[in-house]
Order: sequence, then C-alpha cells, then structure tokens
Amino acid sequence: MHLDSLTDTFHRRHDYLRISLTDACNLRCTYCMPNEKMQVTPSSKLMQAEEIKHIAATFVELGVKKIRLTGGEPLLRKDVRKILRLLATLDVELAISTNAVLVNEYIADLKSANIASVNVSLDTLNAEEFFAITKRNDFGKILSNIHLLLSNGFKVKINMVVMKDINTQAILDFIEWTKEFPLEVRFIEFMPFKGNGWQQDAVFFAIDALKLISTKYDYVKLEDRAESTSRNYKVIGHKGSFGFISTITEPFCDSCNRLRLTADGKMKNCLFDRGETDLLTALRKGEDILPLIQKSVQNKKLQRGGLFDSMNEAAAFHENRTMISIGG
Ligand code: SAM
Ligand code: SF4
Repeated sequence: MHLDSLTDTFHRRHDYLRISLTDACNLRCTYCMPNEKMQVTPSSKLMQAEEIKHIAATFVELGVKKIRLTGGEPLLRKDVRKILRLLATLDVELAISTNAVLVNEYIADLKSANIASVNVSLDTLNAEEFFAITKRNDFGKILSNIHLLLSNGFKVKINMVVMKDINTQAILDFIEWTKEFPLEVRFIEFMPFKGNGWQQDAVFFAIDALKLISTKYDYVKLEDRAESTSRNYKVIGHKGSFGFISTITEPFCDSCNRLRLTADGKMKNCLFDRGETDLLTALRKGEDILPLIQKSVQNKKLQRGGLFDSMNEAAAFHENRTMISIGG
C-alpha cells in the first residue's frame, strides 16, 4: 500500500469511494433530476465492468477500505451482477445505495457480494406524496422490498430528503416506523444542484426536524462514528434509530473521508467541486491512473468544494453537475 497516498493537504485521510454505475434512473425525484429531459450517457462512454474493477482496485491499493455503488439507479445496469462479482474479489467493504425498485431481483447477488448494508432512498410513507415527488407509482414495491431486505438480514438505512412544505410531516411517520423495525432513518437537508429547483426557503433545517420529533417522542443521542456524516438518535423503546445529514447548516467537511467516481469515469474529490479528473480516458490510453488520483486528492478544498462558505452563496451549486450525473 502507498501509505498516506490519499491524505489531503488538510490531513484528511480518504478511505471511502462512491462509484456511480449509471446516470439513468427509473424514478424522477424532483430534487435529484432536472426538469428538462435528461440525456443518459451512452453505454460506450460509461466505465465497463472490467474498467470499474481496475479503477476500484487502484483506489484500494491506495488505501480505500469501503466502496459504495450508487447512481442514478445502480441496479439498472444490465451488467450489475458482473460488476458485483468483480468488486467482491477486492479487499474492501462493499455497500450500495438504491431506490429499491429492483431489489427483489438482486437479493442473492447482493448477498454473494458480501453486501451487508443497503441504503434506500424514500422520502415519504404516503403513496400520493411519493408519486408527487418521484413521478412514478413504485411505492408499494419499494416498501415490500425494504421488508425483503430486512427479512434477509441486511442492515437498511433509509435516506429521506426533507423539503419544506412538501414532505416535512412525513418525518413523524418515519419515526413511527422505527418503532417496530430496525431501520436507520436519515433525514437529509435538501441540497442545491443544477436544475433541481433548489431555494434556500425550501430547506427544512435538521434542528427544526429534531424540534418536530421532540413534540411527540422522547429520544436519546447515540454515539456517532468519527467519519459519520449523520448525527444519530434513537427514540426510547424503538427498534430503529434516526439521524440527520445537515450538509447545509452543519457541513461535515472537517472529517470528510470520501472520494467519488462518476459513471463516465471522472473522479471528483468532493460532491460540490466542479473540478474533475478523467480517469477513464487515461486508463483507455494505457496511462497510469494512480498519480492522477493522488493529484486530485491533493487539490481537495477545505469545505464544500470551495464553492461557497455560507448558505447565501449556495446558488453557486447550480453550476455543478446534476446530482444524478455525479452519483449521490
Ligand atoms: N438511486 C439511488 C437512490 O436513490 O438511493 C442512488 C443515487 S441517489 C442520487 C443517492 C442519494 O442522493 C439518495 O439518498 C438521494 O436522496 C440523495 N439526493 C439526491 N439529490 C439530493 C439533493 N438535492 N439533496 C439531498 N440529497 C439528495
Ligand atoms: Fe433516481 Fe435516486 Fe435520483 Fe431518485 S434520488 S431520481 S431514485 S437517482
């Protein structure tokens, strides 16, 4: 291993890589996809299965301990089984973020790839509200697939993006859900990306969500892991827990350990940095990608990609790629 190869100039060690497998999706979440028709990247421009393995192996060689597959919807990739098989040969913890629509088709593959924990995106427990947010009718399927994951022994985290006046009341429904089921629900502050209609007024602050919860429930604070992006709690007597990812009001950049790879093979050292390093083109030309990865880490900015320091400047995010094309 190349010791400290993925340590940046702010002494942050990076051991977590998120790989997007596709920018296509079977849902149309308003906060993630732009309104206009999205052009999906053609397959020839996407990293192919063996290329994903090669790039991932280089990151592992440099010290990455955990890889999360994301997208778009990663389970839409026709060759996702092959990708899972190839990545499972690496000495790394594998995880996946999915909207769970197709999970029932891949339970066995997730198990054989030793995936222990699955993050599922779900923003409401009301079917009509679900349709309004995602423009699709898959609510029932997602619920049953979440239960399928639980009954198959997976640890399940639910990611809920909270948008003021859209789904804030659902916060209490999610908390109630943690009573009987060992789910970890994470309430995420709505972040701005190109074309997602973000406005400062639409952000429901984590602190207000906690106040809402305290009107009905007694909770305790849980201990957070050092690199955890969420601040975690548990309602007394509930099987599950809940937490907040407050990227807007309390960014966790100081302890950031993440790097990203887009589906078209560009490395991003931060979700919000517009800079990208084209690893796929270099790989296809037969170049060594290891020094490119190291250089990108060295260029990582202290906070939120150096784009802005306060929420008032957050509109600058609109210059970034869409969330779906970065890979959440
Ligand atoms: N399709 C998968 C899913 O939905 O879980 C993986 C990709 S999705 C882009 C990954 C995560 O990004 C989801 O949990 C989603 O809620 C989150 N996300 C997307 N747009 C966001 C935004 N504008 N603000 C906060 N989180 C966002
Ligand atoms: Fe698709 Fe996930 Fe984005 Fe929703 S959040 S549109 S499910 S990629």
